[in-house]
Amino acid sequence: MGRNIITATSPLMPDLNSFNEYLRDIWEKKWITNNGSYHKLLEKELADYLGVPYICLFTNGTLPLITALQALRITGEVITTPYSFVATTHALWWNGIKPVFVDIDPETGNIDPEKIEAAITPKTTAIMPVHVYGQPCRIVEIQEIADKYGLKIIYDAAHAFGVKKDGESILNAGDISTLSFHATKVFNTIEGGAMIVKDEKTKQRIDYFKNFGFANETEVVSPGINSKMDEIRAAYGLINLKQVDKAIDVRQKVAKRYREALKCVKGVKFWNDHPNIKHNYSYFPIFINAEEYGMTRDQLYFKMKSHNIYGRRYFYPLISTFSMYRGLPSANKDNLPNAYKMANEVICLPIHHELTKEDVEKVINEITK
Ligand SMILES: *Cc1c(COP(=O)(O)O)cnc(C)c1O
Repeated sequence: MGRNIITATSPLMPDLNSFNEYLRDIWEKKWITNNGSYHKLLEKELADYLGVPYICLFTNGTLPLITALQALRITGEVITTPYSFVATTHALWWNGIKPVFVDIDPETGNIDPEKIEAAITPKTTAIMPVHVYGQPCRIVEIQEIADKYGLKIIYDAAHAFGVKKDGESILNAGDISTLSFHATKVFNTIEGGAMIVKDEKTKQRIDYFKNFGFANETEVVSPGINSKMDEIRAAYGLINLKQVDKAIDVRQKVAKRYREALKCVKGVKFWNDHPNIKHNYSYFPIFINAEEYGMTRDQLYFKMKSHNIYGRRYFYPLISTFSMYRGLPSANKDNLPNAYKMANEVICLPIHHELTKEDVEKVINEITK
């Protein structure tokens, strides 16, 4: 109808001809789930692509978080961030664990390692940080704290597909990292996710966990859940994996143009790339200082929306403000000043592989005019 909508994201999808070939093969084999050949192949190809030792596919990105906490037998209290998608904290809730929110570092949006120690109590068993927008957490400092207090680390790496620091995948940090392959993420299997583990034995345990604890036809060796990925989505993922680098290249160009055009706009801040990090350009957050910009974040957000440009207020509101968590002592606003500030200033601009040059200029005009 001539309404040209610029969406925040657009799912990377296989071309139908390639997908059809895979589908025909799956139809012939009639092996449609339960660790079929495409499932095995996607695990292998992802491990190679990401540079990680072992990967377990899941049916979404929330179940590996929940399962990781089970597998590491995490109980009591876990230190985490309020500046994330709600699934991070919900994974603790599903395990009967008390979340303890720690404020973020305004330079990255990630949990501030300097504030972690003060939040540790005798009940603390783990830290669950998030590599927000794919920006690596301060991995070394967090590990030092974990080692000092005997804590486990589970990274919610839902945004960090393919991100490397000094040539090494950041998915190898901590004890376990988890990924989401939801349609809105850089790499998707429609719904899907994965867990990154360090040794074969843990992979075996996780594979039991995600299949009801079955070790073979008759033996159930652990409690378990059903969170298996099926063959159709594994095939979809295999095709997407072949084109994800190209999609990331387009995202990088979009980010470059945004930076060029917005660097002189008063009251608009953003982060630059780091030379030692391989970024994935999964998001392009900008931060609006209402006084300098002359308009609040929400005013800009709704103005963009009224002109069919859809940004995202990731992450607003903070997880700690939702009714089930706001009663926690650590959810107190005074405990989380940086998180509150960022949640009130952020807009993630449209960024995906299908944005045209004209789209990008329209977004820029909307912010600069
Ligand atoms: C997307 C996301 C998840 C959840 O992934 P699903 O695949 O949607 O279950 C978890 N954490 C973060 C930070 C996310 O962005």
